[in-house]
Parts: sequence; structure tokens; C-alpha cells
Amino acid sequence: MSSEIYFSNNYRDLCVRDGTGAGFQFEFSCARCYDTWRSPFEPYGGERAATWLGKGVDAAWGLLGRTGTGLSSAADGLAGAGWGRSRDTAFQRAIDNAQGHFNRCARCTDYVCGRCWNAAQGLCLRCAPDTAAEAMAAQQRGLNDMASQRAYAAGQQAGQSYDPNTPRQLVCPNCRTETRGAAFCSGCGYHLAQSPQCSSCSAALPEGAAFCPGCGTRR
Ligand SMILES: [Zn+2]
Ligand SMILES: [Zn+2]
Ligand SMILES: [Zn+2]
Ligand SMILES: [Zn+2]
Repeated sequence: MSSEIYFSNNYRDLCVRDGTGAGFQFEFSCARCYDTWRSPFEPYGGERAATWLGKGVDAAWGLLGRTGTGLSSAADGLAGAGWGRSRDTAFQRAIDNAQGHFNRCARCTDYVCGRCWNAAQGLCLRCAPDTAAEAMAAQQRGLNDMASQRAYAAGQQAGQSYDPNTPRQLVCPNCRTETRGAAFCSGCGYHLAQSPQCSSCSAALPEGAAFCPGCGTRR
């Protein structure tokens, strides 16, 4: 199993290279709920200590035969080799540690947290959803579907007596209150469903007019 390749897509590097807070930390996240787990912070002692540490790391790596795919040493250059190697080994430790906090789904190969894991099936909850939760959800869908169907039928029934030729206004042209097709505005009492007229000369007022275009009277 190639944990490095998987986790290389699914971690956040929280390492700090310089300053008093220098050190290594990585954050891994569940592929289903995105809950995160952070590896314990490991302080970084600086280039000199790291170079010394790096020798031991080199030996260990030789034994393991690692190629260093996706790791930072090669790109880091000579000056940063101490940091790069230290980071890589810290990353490897973090991955090993993270394996204990995540479960690999045998079907979709995602790594998920304990809450997103169907232990009985050995699969993630996306691949093997919880039976009781699915049953409840299906019941709710059935309820909603039936209620929607009946409400639709009731609406069709009511539509029989609806006069589609009566003009309706959804917003009061006088005060902008939402009127939803009522006969009078609930905000100002304006008589809706009629084209606005000038109070002085009775000319039709265009939508939003502040003054009558016919006689100049303020609306
Ligand atoms: Zn999760
Ligand atoms: Zn899965
Ligand atoms: Zn109004
Ligand atoms: Zn007018």
C-alpha cells in the first residue's frame, strides 16, 4: 500500500522552517467529512542538529530502499538539505501515525476517520451507508414525495377556479410592499391590479414615474 502517494494528496504542511517556533507538523483530513487530524508538533533544532540527524536518516533510508518520491530533499538543494531530510522523516513519522487515525476503504480506497467508517463491512460510510440512517432517510423521502404529490393535486384543484385573465401585481407600485397578487396593498392600501393613473388628469403613469408625464403633477 502506498501511503505516501495517497496522503500526498490529502495533507496540509504546517511546518515552520525559521524562528523559535520552527518545527514539523502535518494535518491530514478525512475524505468523507473533512475532519482533520494533526500530527504532534516536532520542534526543529536547526541546520546543524539536522545535518547530524540526517546521517542517521540516510542510513535508515538506505535500508528501506526508499526512492524519495514526492519528498523535498532533492529539490531543496545543499543548503537546505538538513531541513529537507528532517522534514521528510518527520513526514514519514506523521504518515505512520496518521494510519492509526484513518481507515482505508477497501472499495473506494479513500481514507476516512473513525466516524465515517463502517467497521462491520470494512468499508467507508459512503460505500456502505448505515442501514438505520438510510431507512430513516428513505422514509422521509417517501413522506415528502407523497405530501408533495397530494399538495400538487390540491393546487391543481384550486387552479380550476383561478382566473388567469385578471391582471395581478406582485409588488405595490406605490410603496414597493410585496403584495403577491392581492387586490389591495397591505402596506399602503393602494388598489392593485390597475394601471396607475394621475390623480389630476387621469393619464396612465408609467412604472416608477415620480411625476405625471401629462400634467406634471407629483404622484
Ligand atoms: Zn470523517
Ligand atoms: Zn469507500
Ligand atoms: Zn403599497
Ligand atoms: Zn396628470
